[in-house]
Amino acid sequence: MNTILLLPDLVANQIAAGEVIQRPASAVKELLENAIDAGATKIQLIIKDAGRTLIQVVDNGKGMGFTDARMCFERHATSKIATADDLYRLTTKGFRGEALASIAAIAHVELKTKRPEEETGTLLVTEGSQVKEHTPTATQDGTSISIKNLFFNVPARRNFLKSDAIELGHIEEELNRISLIHCDVEFSFFNNGKLMQQLPPSNQKQRIINVFGTHFKEKLFSVELNTEAVKITGFIAKPENAKKKKNEQYLFVNHRFVKHYLLTHAIESTYKELIPEGHKPAFFIEITVPPATIDVNISPTKIDIKFQDDRMIYAFLNASVKKTLGTLSLIPQIDFNYDPQYDFSGIKPKDEVKPPTLTLNPNYNPYSSKTEKKTTPSDSWEQFLSGLKNETITPPSVEPEKIVFAEESKDTEEVIDETQFKCLFFSEAYLLFIWKDSLQIIDVKSARERILFEHFLNALEKAPIVIQQSIFPETITLSASAAEIVNDILPELRTLGYELEQMDRTSFAVNGTPIEEENCEVQQVIEQFVEMYKTHQFLHKTDKNSAIAKSLAKQKCSSKLQITSEPEQQAFIKQWLQCTVPQISPSGKKVAKIFTADEIRKIFE
Ligand code: ADP
Ligand code: MG
Repeated sequence: MNTILLLPDLVANQIAAGEVIQRPASAVKELLENAIDAGATKIQLIIKDAGRTLIQVVDNGKGMGFTDARMCFERHATSKIATADDLYRLTTKGFRGEALASIAAIAHVELKTKRPEEETGTLLVTEGSQVKEHTPTATQDGTSISIKNLFFNVPARRNFLKSDAIELGHIEEELNRISLIHCDVEFSFFNNGKLMQQLPPSNQKQRIINVFGTHFKEKLFSVELNTEAVKITGFIAKPENAKKKKNEQYLFVNHRFVKHYLLTHAIESTYKELIPEGHKPAFFIEITVPPATIDVNISPTKIDIKFQDDRMIYAFLNASVKKTLGTLSLIPQIDFNYDPQYDFSGIKPKDEVKPPTLTLNPNYNPYSSKTEKKTTPSDSWEQFLSGLKNETITPPSVEPEKIVFAEESKDTEEVIDETQFKCLFFSEAYLLFIWKDSLQIIDVKSARERILFEHFLNALEKAPIVIQQSIFPETITLSASAAEIVNDILPELRTLGYELEQMDRTSFAVNGTPIEEENCEVQQVIEQFVEMYKTHQFLHKTDKNSAIAKSLAKQKCSSKLQITSEPEQQAFIKQWLQCTVPQISPSGKKVAKIFTADEIRKIFE
């Protein structure tokens, strides 16, 4: 007996709807995409009861003729592709020809459409895929499609819908995903008769501000890259804008909102030292690649995408975001109008790509107008802690002795004059100071961790710390696992001033220690350092140098720092101001709170 039946169209469409239309927001997405594909310049989205009773999209696009108005509800009916090869030449949002068929199977639909070149339009009414009316009608150019009673015949779906607020949130999100990349299109959004959003045509920055609010105004910085293989445009927000939620992350590929774990990582990883753990940076970035190098036909909702060469895109994206972040210096008060120009011209899609390395200006000081000049450490505390740092910007050919002691450069002008800021000793934990016209409070421990981290990273990458050779080397003994780690990073430890030599499986001779730290407790330093290093490596998968520098900085901060005299405090603050990323500690903690004169005034208004 034959048991296999071909499913009736209605059932097949309902099944397809299960994948494509999960909630009112999915229908909104499909209708908005169709309006964009129809070349509309003005789109209205009208919602009632969070989409339960009505979802209407009105566009001024190219409309449909009498027969097409009927055809568009058939499964696999599309005007956007004709052959399978067209999938790799896509310039439209739609191509699967199943959205309208799916929607019609689970709702009541009313379509009014008219092509500008025709006299009359068409009205088509369907209920659960059944055509109830199909007549010529008078209507304006373009298309108006109303979806009523969504899921009327799929009670399970209807019952699974969340509260109106949640469903409305999803709808808004779909609108954002379209409106943020189609900035030349005017959008208006009504909910229960109320105008929720009106977005005039504008550039992308203005569109972002219109969607998310004026607080974004000073916080967006452009990312740009133009090569033959890939073009990257868009904006990233300052690290301080990072939130615990991911909801301000927009990645577009060829004008389509996509979710792509790897590429999101390419962006997020550049922020890793700059924002607290668990926070997500905001970004609005579009990647444009030749359509033949991507596959968007992976999921029915077309939100996933496959690249021919995602490692290349990763490298480009990562480098261009880094470039923008690097030039920002990440300081809140300054609005850079930097336009990063990357010269990647000549790189072909198949070329191997090395991400460009960043060169940050270690002397950049956001608080000073004289940022290009070198600084001279002028007191002993600073020399002790990181006199090194200022000199490490000199070419590596400089002799080590000169790197440690900066006397030679005394004739150069200082960037920060300590006497310019008044420092108040607030408590052992916090320093309060007035700088230009702002009041700043810094957390001493976090600031110190930041200073030391940059100092050690600098040492690892550019100028090793000078070693004081031990005349009578002591021996330290570690646990087997710690010894294994130490053995693995002996060269790095040497660069940081700890010259260890393995004696047997678990013990090491200490042949030298950092010149700036005579008589340090090497056993304790190394033991604590290894513990922290293990956690960093395990938890954060940061690169080796960064993990080492972080761990050592943290280890050094475990002892209390006494900075009670004013010169010490001033030197400390100066040291901190000279950091490349002063605002955030390497553990992701906020280092400073800054009150501008304006903010202080507002407190009392
Ligand atoms: P797809 O978008 O994948 O082609 P849809 O089911 O969404 O499939 O739409 C089917 C067809 O209906 C489209 O290919 C298009 O020709 C037509 N269509 C849908 N919406 C509109 C619209 N707003 N304006 C003009 N044509 C439309
Ligand atoms: Mg479509």
